[in-house]
Amino acid sequence: MARDLSPVCKKCRREGEKLFLKGERCLSEKCSLSRRGAKERSRFLRRSSAYAQQLKEKQKLRLMYGVFEGQFRRFFRLAAKRGNPAIELLLLLERRLDNVVYRIGWAQSRPQARQMVRHGHLMIDGHKVDVPSYLVKTDDLIELRKPETSYAQERTELTDESRLVSWLNLDGKKIRVNRLPAGEDVAEIPINSQLIVELYSK
Ligand code: SF4
Repeated sequence: MARDLSPVCKKCRREGEKLFLKGERCLSEKCSLSRRGAKERSRFLRRSSAYAQQLKEKQKLRLMYGVFEGQFRRFFRLAAKRGNPAIELLLLLERRLDNVVYRIGWAQSRPQARQMVRHGHLMIDGHKVDVPSYLVKTDDLIELRKPETSYAQERTELTDESRLVSWLNLDGKKIRVNRLPAGEDVAEIPINSQLIVELYSK
């Protein structure tokens, strides 16, 4: 499977936006964009054409969720079939297993969550799932595969029920998908997905 090994912070600098790919570092003073990004961001926005802004928004969303171009287009086509693609695209990306692991809090970033899934640490309804793009469904029960190991215990201790998104429920040390995410669950994602729809509608 192809992997993107380019330096993580460079992706944020290229987009001129924080993509939150490095966990706690992204919220600290160590984030290179916190140190020098604001000026570059405003310069970029002043200069960019409508097309450049659409492209930038698409790249930002793609990099945030760690999805390659081909798979991103497939997600977009699927989203368009389901209704308003500007919303449906975000809802589909939210349902990816690596994103869910990140939302649960078992990983500090989506890249770390993706690695956990790929390394076979996750089970759904009692079966190992090592495909980060697996789309969770209502009633899926997600758990760590070897809960007795110190690694798994460290991960589960990171779950904070008060910060859990409302479509996931803590069920002991497991997580239940109580419903699929809806429009209000993706309203806070800092992406103007309408720009992506315009880009792919050309
Ligand atoms: Fe991006 Fe996080 Fe690196 Fe900051 S620390 S540049 S938000 S990946």
